[in-house]
Amino acid sequence: MMENKVILTVATTGAWPSKKDTPYIPLQPEEIAEEVYACYKAGAAVAHIHVRDDEDKASMNFEKFEKTLKLIREKCDIVINTTTSGGIGLTDEERMKPFMNLKPELASYDCGTMNWQNSTVFENNPKFLEKLGLAMQENGVKPEIEVFDAGMVYNALYYLKKGILKAPLHFQFVLGVPGGMTATIENLVFLKNLIPEGSTWSALGIGKQHLPILYAALAMGGNVRVGMEDNIFYSAGQLAKSNVEFIDRTKRIVKELGKELATPDEARAILGLKK
Ligand code: ZN
Repeated sequence: MMENKVILTVATTGAWPSKKDTPYIPLQPEEIAEEVYACYKAGAAVAHIHVRDDEDKASMNFEKFEKTLKLIREKCDIVINTTTSGGIGLTDEERMKPFMNLKPELASYDCGTMNWQNSTVFENNPKFLEKLGLAMQENGVKPEIEVFDAGMVYNALYYLKKGILKAPLHFQFVLGVPGGMTATIENLVFLKNLIPEGSTWSALGIGKQHLPILYAALAMGGNVRVGMEDNIFYSAGQLAKSNVEFIDRTKRIVKELGKELATPDEARAILGLKK
């Protein structure tokens, strides 16, 4: 029965879009929790969480994570996936503190360093990745291995061999960030064929490549992520007024494909999570 289920992750906020880009993006804990709850009711099984500081800037502020997760957990049992990359120039400890203390079921594991959007270095050096993988194991948090480029899959295979990561692995292919792989269906097929058998995977395309990657991932039997972290437009020139619009559309597409959205508990079963 589970082959018929699609895990829909919502990434409501991200690190970069501002209220100037779209007034509809939720940035503070109360707004994020309300939006996540609305997305849960619409069919999202996983919420990928970023927080912002009081000025709405990218942040790994622990109190903001603590408040956001508390508010979400009071409302629903959606699977929580916290970022470990809420900005540039953070210490390892700042990046790891939220998942080590708040014990989400998933957290992001960005599996390599890259030139981010032709502007800065998104650093995930080997020492950090080793420390991060072991800390996730110790805390019972499953890594969501974020892949922006093919080398990051090979890094994951290396860390699997070294015991830093444990099978079955779960991948999130993030396509279309300048500095990483472009968001083409050929690239998605290529990446999907690199991962070990028994792995689970999900994909997203940034910006206007969002829809082609969504359709392709679903057709290939994958899971999908939507939300304003990746794309603020519902269609050309039309801002999404809520992350729920992306959930509703994906639900319709999934249904037309003869599949169903997984509930949070079904997502837990598919990903091997302990609640
Ligand atoms: Zn993120």
